[in-house]
Amino acid sequence: MPSSEFQLIEHHFSRLGATREDVLLGVGDDCALLQVPPGKVLAVSLDTLVEGVHFLPGVDPEALGHKALAVNLSDLAAMGAEPAWATLALTLPRIDEAWIEAFCRGFAQLANRYRVQLVGGDTTRGPRAISVQVHGFVEAGQALRRDGAGIGDLVYVSGTLGDAGLALRAAAGEYDPGPHLIDIQLRLDRPQPRVEQALALRHLASAAIDLSDGLLADLGHICQRSGCGARLELPSIPLSPALDQFIRERGDWGVPLASGDDYELCLVVPRDRQAEFERVAAGLETPLRRVGEIEAEPGIRCFDAAGNPLRVGRGGYDHFGQA
Ligand code: ADP
Ligand code: MG
Repeated sequence: MPSSEFQLIEHHFSRLGATREDVLLGVGDDCALLQVPPGKVLAVSLDTLVEGVHFLPGVDPEALGHKALAVNLSDLAAMGAEPAWATLALTLPRIDEAWIEAFCRGFAQLANRYRVQLVGGDTTRGPRAISVQVHGFVEAGQALRRDGAGIGDLVYVSGTLGDAGLALRAAAGEYDPGPHLIDIQLRLDRPQPRVEQALALRHLASAAIDLSDGLLADLGHICQRSGCGARLELPSIPLSPALDQFIRERGDWGVPLASGDDYELCLVVPRDRQAEFERVAAGLETPLRRVGEIEAEPGIRCFDAAGNPLRVGRGGYDHFGQA
């Protein structure tokens, strides 16, 4: 059992995830030495999870290890970048071997799946917080930026929306999802980054974002950057059986459209690539659904099955926003 910080790092972090040839020097020195493939650019993203803000005290550390990496891989996917390396800053109130072991297990499982190697980090004492930075590769011209959407382009989302948000409502005792609880809890605890989808479709999209704050807010970011607006057809929004039941009972579209933590992809696709996009998407494990269209008028407008406009609560979750 490791006794010093040095041994702790050596034991838990020095061989975590895949072993990659482009890592010239990994954990253990002052810096990692990393080789970016010729012709590619580095896509870099960082996300922090803080106890009491992003996760509850006592949450399963293995799920946390998964989620800390998953939310970052989701950002790489949204850029159309192929994952390669990660660094990890871990702040812990005390050295708890079992906790670190389980955290690393969750992290490693996902890292191995996407051939990500942990190449460095920092370990400090303090209130529990986890920062993961990921690094991936993309051809400069192929990166999926937020500012590429054009008027008339079509809007697609992957998977289903609102499951994680509903799980939070259930945890707060505001809604009883009955037998669906297990499924939506899994969506909250173990989000699956849509890496394969992004890599298969990136050459066909004009803009992309991952859904961390809800479709209204995140599509809103694309629209703002691209200088346009969008319309959404609510009957087309992909819903799980849990959300389908929730909408039928409560009619509250705020959950699928304005709650966070979905980590699905939102892709914008020019019409002349629609057929090819839908052909490639049909062969993927997690389907994508067309939910709307980019329009010239700023703002996002929602329409129900009868074509009537519908007001949906304020867009997404904003850490510094007014309650
Ligand atoms: P320094 O004092 O030079 O910052 P540290 O003692 O913080 O060195 O870290 C020693 C080595 O261990 C470095 O290579 C660092 O990247 C790595 N490291 C420390 N903590 C972690 C961690 N949580 N995950 C991965 N690597 C880590
Ligand atoms: Mg350090």
